[in-house]
Amino acid sequence: MFSLSSPFGRKERDSYLKNIKEPSTVFDLCIVGGGITGAAIARDAALRGLKVLLVEKDDFASGTSSRSSKLIHGGVRYLEQLEFKLVSESTRERARLWKNSPHLAQPIQFLFPVFESSRVPLWKLSLGLWLYDLLAVFRAPGLHKRLSQSETKKTEPLLRGEDLKGSITYWDGITNDGLLTLANILDAHQAGAQTLSRVKYLNATKETILLGALPQEIFSINLQDTLQNENLSIKARTLILATGPWTDALLNLVPEISSKNFPERLLAPTRGSHIVVPRDRLTTEHAIVLFHPTDGRVLFVIPWGDFSIVGTTDLFDAENPDHTHISKEEVQYLLEAANGYFPEAKLNKEDIISTWSGLRPLLAPNKDKSESQISRDHYIRWFEPGVMIVTGGKLTTHREMAEEAVELLFDSTTHWTLPLSVPYSPCPTRARALPQFRYPQIGVSPQDAIGKSEAAQLSLDDVRGICRTQMVLTLEDLFVRRTEIFFKEKGNGWNLLPTLKKTLCEELSWTESDWTRELLAYKKYLEKNITKPLEKDFDPSSVLQEEHKLNF
Ligand code: FAD
Repeated sequence: MFSLSSPFGRKERDSYLKNIKEPSTVFDLCIVGGGITGAAIARDAALRGLKVLLVEKDDFASGTSSRSSKLIHGGVRYLEQLEFKLVSESTRERARLWKNSPHLAQPIQFLFPVFESSRVPLWKLSLGLWLYDLLAVFRAPGLHKRLSQSETKKTEPLLRGEDLKGSITYWDGITNDGLLTLANILDAHQAGAQTLSRVKYLNATKETILLGALPQEIFSINLQDTLQNENLSIKARTLILATGPWTDALLNLVPEISSKNFPERLLAPTRGSHIVVPRDRLTTEHAIVLFHPTDGRVLFVIPWGDFSIVGTTDLFDAENPDHTHISKEEVQYLLEAANGYFPEAKLNKEDIISTWSGLRPLLAPNKDKSESQISRDHYIRWFEPGVMIVTGGKLTTHREMAEEAVELLFDSTTHWTLPLSVPYSPCPTRARALPQFRYPQIGVSPQDAIGKSEAAQLSLDDVRGICRTQMVLTLEDLFVRRTEIFFKEKGNGWNLLPTLKKTLCEELSWTESDWTRELLAYKKYLEKNITKPLEKDFDPSSVLQEEHKLNF
């Protein structure tokens, strides 16, 4: 059963807003962005005693950080680009997460099949995986193993046998990216940080105020509470942009930086999309690594409970990151790979339960590098006195990135007159567990479960608990990031609305018109992210009579 820990919900939000508006409050740092990067920095800084505010314009993790491939990995494929330092750092952080927070990151065994036509021969792959095990200092649950053609077929009988030469198995990790981010937010919050979703950074100005007897330059930062459509202003000594693929847009909204009119873009984001299909249509024992049959790019089939994930694509995308979703062409590309290697699956778009797409916040390429070759390394830099940018990187290395950013924060403030409110203390997160969600739930009897899929084995009391302790503010928050209902329930949560209406309206203080607004917003989300018509058995209200428009 879901266990309530400290309240962190809609009902507490107003008091959090009141606290941050207090005119005498000056934060040490205001972090913009509630993805994994911002959340991890808030956690590290708050645990060191700093006065932290984090604002996220949408939901925590709603940007890239709930749209990854969900792997806690060293990055086997980065070996091809000779990124040994990145692989070594990532495998170290992978081992830390397995040890400190096994509830949020579990080992998963991969199988890398090699075919006659594969662009990497078996011997070379085997050599690469020796290096992978070495760089990980053997901290995985087991070493890589070479399998013959017949051993491979025995363990993965549905994998194409034609041209198959053999395979290699090795270990990496899997997580729930949205909850990993939320766990960082909750730890930060419990350590005293103010962490607010649906509060948007608008702009900032520099002001001189008296802090003690000394005149100090600080930021006066304008924010918008988008839930209640109210503007507010707060004060902070430093500003950290952890805005992932939004970073270039944000640079125009920061004093001093905007006036310099940067000619070049810092990032060149690429879009990666995934599809989810029932596991009984694409059954694998391992996570499978594949070279796409047309362009040779690496992609994965990842077992995910009763489902399989196929992903990902990798396309330059200069569109507004607010509107990222899968395209028809990407659906075809992913189906082509799955059907090419699992011919009996015969998947088509009607088999797809759900999809997601995210933008990798990759640093702009050096000349002559293709999308897949751009470095996944992170970028941490003071852009101007008091304005730090932290971006790039990976979910896997979030803790280390945050440590580096907070170290730089303490280090650099000795060089100018911005004393932080506490002296330096060492990084507190290296051996610290992230909070537990007691999730997924166990023991809900079938008659109490709100839905049929594994993701909906929750009682209404569980839903109340999630709302009260995990800052659920919309239907999308609940279905997409607090639970996996959108991805795994056949009706993507649309079918559960009659069951949930009373509980959600009570918990989130929604009126009838708020409920209708939520339905419309969630319907819009579904239209972008599912490839089949909505379930017909629920017609929630006359306002939703209009034709369901699919992108496909
Ligand atoms: P984001 O999560 O994008 O967070 C930035 C936040 O800033 C957003 O939530 C946004 O709403 C907010 N924001 C923007 N403007 C404002 C504003 N004005 N005011 C307030 N808030 C604002 N990494 C791995 O380790 N393993 C993987 O398997 C993996 N797979 C991936 C697959 C794909 C397809 C993608 C796209 C990435 C993958 N990654 C993976 C990389 C990883 O997901 C990202 O590096 C990471 O999530 C980036 O987090 P972030 O916090 O920097 O950015």
